[in-house]
Amino acid sequence: MQPQPQNLEFQTEAKQLLHLMIHSLYSHKEVFLRELVSNASDALDKLRFEALTDPSIDTGAELAVRISVDKEAKTITVSDNGIGMTREEAIENLGTIARSGSKAFLEKMTGDQRADSNLIGQFGVGFYSAFMVANRVRVVTKRAGSDGGATAWESNGESSYTISDAEKEGRGTDVVVYLKDDEAEYAELWQIRSLIKKYSDFIAFPIYLPNDKGENEVVNQTKPLWLRPASEVTPEQYEEFYHQALGGYGKTLCAMHSKAEGILEYSSLLFIPAQPAFDLFSSLERKHGVKLYVRRVFIMDNCKELLPEYLRFVRGVVDSEDLPLNVSREMLQKNAVIEKMSKALVSKILGKLTEMAEGDPAAYKDFWKSFGVVLKEGLYNDYENREKLLELARFQSSMGDGEGDTVSLKQYVSRMREDQKDIYYITAESRGVAEKSPHLEIFRAKSIEVLYLVDPVDEWIIGMGGIGEYGGKQLKSVTKGDLDLGDLDKEEAEKRKAAQAELAGLSGRIKEILAESVEEVRVTGRLKDSPACLVAGAQSVGAHLEKMMKAMGQEVPVSKRVLEINAEHPIIKNINTRYGEAPNDPELTDWVRLLYDGALIAEGRPADDPAAYLKRVNAMLEKASAKQG
Ligand code: ADP
Repeated sequence: MQPQPQNLEFQTEAKQLLHLMIHSLYSHKEVFLRELVSNASDALDKLRFEALTDPSIDTGAELAVRISVDKEAKTITVSDNGIGMTREEAIENLGTIARSGSKAFLEKMTGDQRADSNLIGQFGVGFYSAFMVANRVRVVTKRAGSDGGATAWESNGESSYTISDAEKEGRGTDVVVYLKDDEAEYAELWQIRSLIKKYSDFIAFPIYLPNDKGENEVVNQTKPLWLRPASEVTPEQYEEFYHQALGGYGKTLCAMHSKAEGILEYSSLLFIPAQPAFDLFSSLERKHGVKLYVRRVFIMDNCKELLPEYLRFVRGVVDSEDLPLNVSREMLQKNAVIEKMSKALVSKILGKLTEMAEGDPAAYKDFWKSFGVVLKEGLYNDYENREKLLELARFQSSMGDGEGDTVSLKQYVSRMREDQKDIYYITAESRGVAEKSPHLEIFRAKSIEVLYLVDPVDEWIIGMGGIGEYGGKQLKSVTKGDLDLGDLDKEEAEKRKAAQAELAGLSGRIKEILAESVEEVRVTGRLKDSPACLVAGAQSVGAHLEKMMKAMGQEVPVSKRVLEINAEHPIIKNINTRYGEAPNDPELTDWVRLLYDGALIAEGRPADDPAAYLKRVNAMLEKASAKQG
């Protein structure tokens, strides 16, 4: 004997969640439909599973979700012919919350009343979300394979619900949502249709909705593209999917479609777009990325846990068979399933890029132009894939023909001079500045290639030791430390020693004059055409990084640099002569200061004291022009 209508209290936590749904959430209310459809789809999944072992369950009729609206009554009904619930199950499932997802959501919301209701878009908030738009919800349900009758569950979402016997023909569940007056807009077929397209298009069961003529028609794509065998999908279909399902624009460089089976089961369909999305470099929450599905149910857009930031240009779908459906963002953070999938996906993407770089260099060039700066970020935060990333990295170089002509480290090494030990680079804010740097003079003279690291991220990569070495060869800055070209420079080194002795007096005097700015003065091995240049100590941050840090308002550790002078240069020779005649000549001070400012300007920096600099230049001009006349 079933007790007749019972009035039951919601469990405390359920009450809290309902209270929030009704009183605190104002945005993303539309997700209620996704939740109901997802529950219906789950119920169908469960039925399908149970039917495997219970022959009494008749799966003859098509498993489907049916939605109808009644504009007059302001109701939406979501029906399924899935597993259904017994009376006890209805009490247990709809009167309490057991899901960790809901609990996490609840904690998050009650912890801070002002917490943005955006959360609801991220959490699967379940059945109760119907109360965001409804003032009453009625569920009529009948359990598959049970002899009991149907049960009706009904509530206004306040503190209690009623449960009673009901009439229902077949198994399954009908959820009737009685819309609040100001939410009546949802009782429109076009609205429902667009919400299904938006949130439930790839539910694996057909979703029927009446059309204008009142005939029921399927409104979702019942067979998700990613579940089809790759061999059956055309390139056009991939592109279409990219546009329609992912909202992508433009063309794609490649599609990666695969199915993993084994310890983890998931399908993935990933794209590398041809052009960067507008928000690739935005610090705001990005919309695009990889969508996570769990067993065909859409869970979230831009699932950041699936791919590292440096692959944020990749878009697509990952559909896991292993994750729970009620997975929340928070649960994803240290989730072993996600971590394993992520590892495999990263490996797949890097593999594809490697394949492209080797097999289709022109396409890879396009890729690098669009996303190289982003991919490079991986060099300092993905240690595990560092080797692969180093092979994928491309750089401008002194031997390249303009900005687009880049070189890989492998290529660089393959065309190194036989007697060259290290890989050389210069960091600068542009190719133009790098090209004109006096530090490159010796490299040009000796035909040694120098990489131009001209993206802001390069400084960090180098600074964080992201490159350090490649193939056993050190990467060395041409502007740091005492340049040691080894065998490339044997003869000159001898000469330099002699010059160093000859210029010892002058060097000392220059150091006195520039005491506040330089730590040492020495004869250079770098310069051919310029009289002097500045180099950083081997341990210091380097000129370009120092400039960047200053621009960002960061405290820059004061590091005095080394002034290197070119013993072969007429200016240095002349100054030395003058120094021999009159070591304390005030003009000598002016010249040395001009040399120093000149070295700063060559690095793209302002002179130490621009007014004083100009004054000195003008004084010299005056003198020189008077002599001419
Ligand atoms: P979740 O679906 O994430 O578990 P919900 O709050 O949405 O959480 O639903 C609670 C429970 O109610 C479900 O786990 C399921 O057991 C039951 N349920 C909800 N909708 C249906 C349905 N259409 N058919 C069968 N059972 C359902």
